[in-house]
Amino acid sequence: MPYDVVIIGAGPAGSTLARMLNKSFKVLIVDKREFKGKSSSAKTKCCGGLLAPDAQKVLAQFGLALPGEVIVEPQMFSVKCVDLDNRLTRYYQRHYININRELFDRWLLSLVDDNVVIKTKALFKDYRQCEDYIEVDLYCNGKTEKVKTRLLIGADGATSKVRRGITDSQPDVYVSIQKWYKSKQKIPHFISVFDENVTDFYSWVIQKRDCTVVGTALKDTKNCDKKFNLLIDSLKSNGYNFGQCVRTEGAWIMRPRQLKQLNLGQGNIALVGEAAGFISPSSAEGISYALKSGAVLAKSVNQSVDRYLKLYKKNAAQLKLNILIKNLKLKFMYNKYTRKIIMKSGVLSMKLEQDICCKPEAQCLLK
Ligand SMILES: Cc1cc2nc3c(=O)[nH]c(=O)nc-3n(C[C@H](O)[C@H](O)[C@H](O)COP(=O)(O)OP(=O)(O)OC[C@H]3O[C@@H](n4cnc5c(N)ncnc54)[C@H](O)[C@@H]3O)c2cc1C
Repeated sequence: MPYDVVIIGAGPAGSTLARMLNKSFKVLIVDKREFKGKSSSAKTKCCGGLLAPDAQKVLAQFGLALPGEVIVEPQMFSVKCVDLDNRLTRYYQRHYININRELFDRWLLSLVDDNVVIKTKALFKDYRQCEDYIEVDLYCNGKTEKVKTRLLIGADGATSKVRRGITDSQPDVYVSIQKWYKSKQKIPHFISVFDENVTDFYSWVIQKRDCTVVGTALKDTKNCDKKFNLLIDSLKSNGYNFGQCVRTEGAWIMRPRQLKQLNLGQGNIALVGEAAGFISPSSAEGISYALKSGAVLAKSVNQSVDRYLKLYKKNAAQLKLNILIKNLKLKFMYNKYTRKIIMKSGVLSMKLEQDICCKPEAQCLLK
């Protein structure tokens, strides 16, 4: 059966697009993940699983509310910003929602209408342009399957194979590593760590039930283990104790530093979410961009299949502007001198109550 739209990737961008396309289209969404079984399996998306206020706003605009099973304790109301370059620590009030990322993705995919064909455990291999359609090769159930489509959409994340088919240019790509440690301590805030000995981006600590997740994003891909161990040593010398490591995961992560690194597609191939380069270069927050770009592309295709790309480029202008603004913010955040001035000034930061500060976990924050 020829499809109107074939979407590669059922992450937040692909699922949102599939859900919002007109019911009159024949749509296929494909993902190599299984989307069932244990949500802690190694095949799940590697992510910090924090739903930022921007992503919450988009879900609200979609008329969606999170089901309880997607939410993970503890819910945190602050970011502890640890600047090891300047030996400063500050707390800022933030309203993230702590989620189980795999269950979040499964929930989004479950909202896709029955008229959309969903193929999971199916790998996108290749495509070729034919006269007025694209032939797509998928590998599922041990064999290669060919499908025809009018539009091919790459919603296949940071390492998008669809993107590589249309361009050689990539945003700056980092490798991110996350390790999950069984721990008795319950860290009550999201910790962001700035340490230029480890990375020119940042590292993070997030509590997920009885595990402490420590992660970092590294440009220096050759010395990942060394840099990660350096991060752990710095955290330990700041009073944190991690238990047994029960899971190690990694993923590529894009960091678009220039607008020309964003690519929305060409001809009858479009890109959404991180495949297009939509992710915050200052915080690596990508879920809101994935949701928004999926919705913007759906709106554009619904308006006109023939002119969809022109409309998509126009309708995504706000998202591009947003990436530009984050790049401006980044210049202050990632320069240790300006960050020192901002953090020293205490602007927008908050103080912890004395009795909380006396607890072992909090003491080290004040060093
Ligand atoms: C370590 C880490 C921590 C992060 N933490 C956060 C956070 O806390 N909050 C936040 O907002 N953002 C976070 N991000 C960013 C966020 O995860 C991404 O920006 C977001 O998931 C992008 O959504 P997407 O739908 O574009 O792509 P993805 O979520 O990456 O989905 C792409 C899908 O395509 C599938 N796929 C890829 N290739 C193929 C193929 N060849 N064939 C078939 N299927 C394929 C994948 O299996 C996947 O399901 C983090 C990223 C990393 C790496």
